[in-house]
Amino acid sequence: MSIVVVGSIGYDTVETQFGRVDEALGGSASFFSVAARFFSPVSMVAVVGKDFRDEHLKFFAERAIDIRGLVQREGETFRWHGRYHEDMNQRDTLHLALNVFADFMPELLPDQCRADFLFLANISPQLQQRVLSQMKSPKVVAADTMDHWINTERTALLKMLPRVDILTLNDQEARLLAQEHNLVRAGRAILKMGPDTVLVKRGEYGVLQFSQESMFAVPAYPLEEVVDPTGAGDTFAGGFMGYIARHGKITESVLRTAVVYGSVMGSFVVERFSLDRLADLSWEEIDARYRAFIELTDSHHSRWISQ
Ligand code: AMP
Repeated sequence: MSIVVVGSIGYDTVETQFGRVDEALGGSASFFSVAARFFSPVSMVAVVGKDFRDEHLKFFAERAIDIRGLVQREGETFRWHGRYHEDMNQRDTLHLALNVFADFMPELLPDQCRADFLFLANISPQLQQRVLSQMKSPKVVAADTMDHWINTERTALLKMLPRVDILTLNDQEARLLAQEHNLVRAGRAILKMGPDTVLVKRGEYGVLQFSQESMFAVPAYPLEEVVDPTGAGDTFAGGFMGYIARHGKITESVLRTAVVYGSVMGSFVVERFSLDRLADLSWEEIDARYRAFIELTDSHHSRWISQ
């Protein structure tokens, strides 16, 4: 079943200890869509400028990502320049130019309004609300947010949360939103704000999932080299949501497997700069890493039990 994603598309300049990439295709909607497309059809709602390159439209189209909702406006495409610290969980934004993204007014196509699955990537809660009001009766709504919106548009965010089934945010953002340092208490407090499921992304420490009935934790897949963590959260969300849409409904077991697939997709994207690793990723590689992931955490693995 098809997923509609609303978010940013832009050109990223990224510096890490492994090098630098200039003006690479990025943005939350790009990472999300490319990851989710391995599991389910995806339809984008986003804005780019006249400088957006045809090769990148082709990149999406070649992956059968629906770009009818990608509007090209007079002006320049969104740009972001970030530099990571040696501790890759830390980064500084050196430059941010919203350009055409500053006046982004998402308008869904009639068939997008009827979609069953919606992912509201990191845009203002007011815009997220605007998109939600265009949807007919989505089965699953997931949303992402960031510290900037928690600080500047808290009221709008709190108003939106009861309409969201799944909220994804990182550990610092969870603490900020809940005004609680302890992550378990923060996760539980955010559940009370409305979502049925809260996913707290903890970078190299993995993901914590909170729901009314349970708590579930998965580690990040241990890698020898993380080259560029940009987009890991959106790629996680793409794998997670893609798996849910493929199954068509939410159960505890679907949610847990979705968290593992999301983590698997996140573990690939960080291996190279920008979308490079996702661009030539195969389903066989995803499947193999999924198995490796399960083996990594399975203390009752048959290989050991039989000994
Ligand atoms: P992540 O690493 O998951 O936070 O996602 C990074 C992506 O988000 C990059 O590709 C950026 O282009 C994009 N990005 C950075 N800042 C913003 C912003 N303020 N609004 C929307 N997208 C952003």
